[in-house]
Amino acid sequence: MSEIIDRIFDIWQRQSHLDYGEAVTTVEHMLQGAVFAERDGVHDTLIAATVLHDIGHLLHGLPEDIAEQGVDGLHEEVGANWLAQHFVAAVSEPARLHVPAKRYLCAVEPTYFDTLSPSSVQSLKLQGGPFNDDEVADFERLDHWQDAVQLRRYDDMGKVPGMVTPEVQHYRPQLVASLIP
Ligand code: FE
Repeated sequence: MSEIIDRIFDIWQRQSHLDYGEAVTTVEHMLQGAVFAERDGVHDTLIAATVLHDIGHLLHGLPEDIAEQGVDGLHEEVGANWLAQHFVAAVSEPARLHVPAKRYLCAVEPTYFDTLSPSSVQSLKLQGGPFNDDEVADFERLDHWQDAVQLRRYDDMGKVPGMVTPEVQHYRPQLVASLIP
């Protein structure tokens, strides 16, 4: 069962150089988010979702191309589809929704847009911009949308150059607790 956790740690190690484009690597970014989630005392599945939310970036371009099924470049779909094979929906669905959650927050929180990093503003345009009223209502009908919004906040916070975090192994208990039984 925890074989998959070891596999994730292996992928993590091999892709630890991967640049996130925000003065941190992708794995630093995910660990920083997890630190903030853990500090908030949220439940294990949300911590696990934060640790794993950008795993789609890590899966892309691996020699064995684990992400082959979802090759449309949407890292959140690639990642979520892979996560859904191993983890409960409270992990995979917030990861799937963390990009729409940005479009959601831009619509419902007037001050949110100002907190985005330049590259997040740039990608917002490509992602379709802030939601309109119908899209907001649709989003709030999705399962796990609130965790997706919270994950989004940890995602935005996890861009601190030089921040010290635990290694990914620190989160093994939360990952194990979030596996499909
Ligand atoms: Fe992220």
